[in-house]
Amino acid sequence: MKKQDQIIDKTKFKRFNQKNDIFNRSLWDNSIKSDKTTKFYQDYVKPPEDKKRPEGFSHKDYAFRNSGWFMSDFFSNSDKNNGRAEGFTDYFSVQKKGTFKKYKIKSTTQLTKEIKIVAKKLGADLVGVTKFNKDWVYSHKYNRDKNIELKNELDPELKNVIVIANEMDKDLIDTAPSALSGAATGLGYSNDLSSALSLAQYIINLGYKAVASQNDTALSIPLAIEAGLGEYARNGLLITKKFGPRVRISKIFTDLPLEHDKPISFGVKNYCSICQRCANECPPRAISSSEPSFKQINMSNITGIKKWSVNAEKCFKFWASQSSDCTICIRVCPYNKDFNKLIHKIGFRISNTPLRKILIFLDRYFGKRKKPNIWWAK
Ligand code: SF4
Ligand code: SF4
Repeated sequence: MKKQDQIIDKTKFKRFNQKNDIFNRSLWDNSIKSDKTTKFYQDYVKPPEDKKRPEGFSHKDYAFRNSGWFMSDFFSNSDKNNGRAEGFTDYFSVQKKGTFKKYKIKSTTQLTKEIKIVAKKLGADLVGVTKFNKDWVYSHKYNRDKNIELKNELDPELKNVIVIANEMDKDLIDTAPSALSGAATGLGYSNDLSSALSLAQYIINLGYKAVASQNDTALSIPLAIEAGLGEYARNGLLITKKFGPRVRISKIFTDLPLEHDKPISFGVKNYCSICQRCANECPPRAISSSEPSFKQINMSNITGIKKWSVNAEKCFKFWASQSSDCTICIRVCPYNKDFNKLIHKIGFRISNTPLRKILIFLDRYFGKRKKPNIWWAK
């Protein structure tokens, strides 16, 4: 079976259990858990003291990074007493009740257009719509406090999914590896959740059902691909046309009748097959330099899909060792460009032709890390 340019072997395919997500494993799996992982999480609460530290990992870098996470942390802790981590293991439950009569829909084409306009006004940078696909819904979710897996239940009437993506700040990402670059990640989550919650509330205000979700409930990348937001890449991320891999993704499950987008293709698979830059520059060598395969590297990979898989164990151990998330594979990706600039618009066109080899060469030469202190000086 072929789906979104990835081959699925239904005899081996199993829905992913969120207990096996590397962040959840870092709480229950002794092969991942360590003093370093404990410190990694503590530093998100209290920035480390300003002893002699590498550039980009100082007190103020962590202070800024953690402030970027503030809104996301606020919502993920909002129902903590019930063992829920909204946006991470559980969908958001903060919406106000809809008190309005169901809005009378005259045309689903017009409604879909309007939903996309409203989503953008509410802050989303990219919007797509796809049908609900149970394959991507976690088989179980995970309760971090009780260390148990739970049924992952979603209202069966939610037949459509609106997928939104928000750009992460390029200048900050360009300083990776650094705690400073983690501010782009935190802000990405915080901004994305604001758009997702507001859009869900708009749908509820129309008298329909809507559930906003981030990393919880279902795998975001396959849904984003099905909703036409981008293509899958070697670094295990979504590559979008406008922002490359520099996005955060949210989804809204809804019963609103909407028209579906189609997956898009703009040459990412061909580019990745000869580029390898992320694989070469990943410090713990967590990214495969081979062809896509069915191989499950460890329990944090979904089974039964032929694709490039990332070794999340190596990746997360590196994050813990530097006590901050890493976005090197986003920074170095040639699709991480400001495509508003003419030169990059031309490069984007060339990327889908045999001349892409020249781009790969040039990118290695010009695509360098920006020093965190220069970012602060600006
Ligand atoms: S986030 Fe960093 S460590 Fe993880 S795969 Fe990307 S480059 Fe490698
Ligand atoms: S760095 Fe190169 S190989 Fe890696 S995801 Fe980007 S285009 Fe693909």
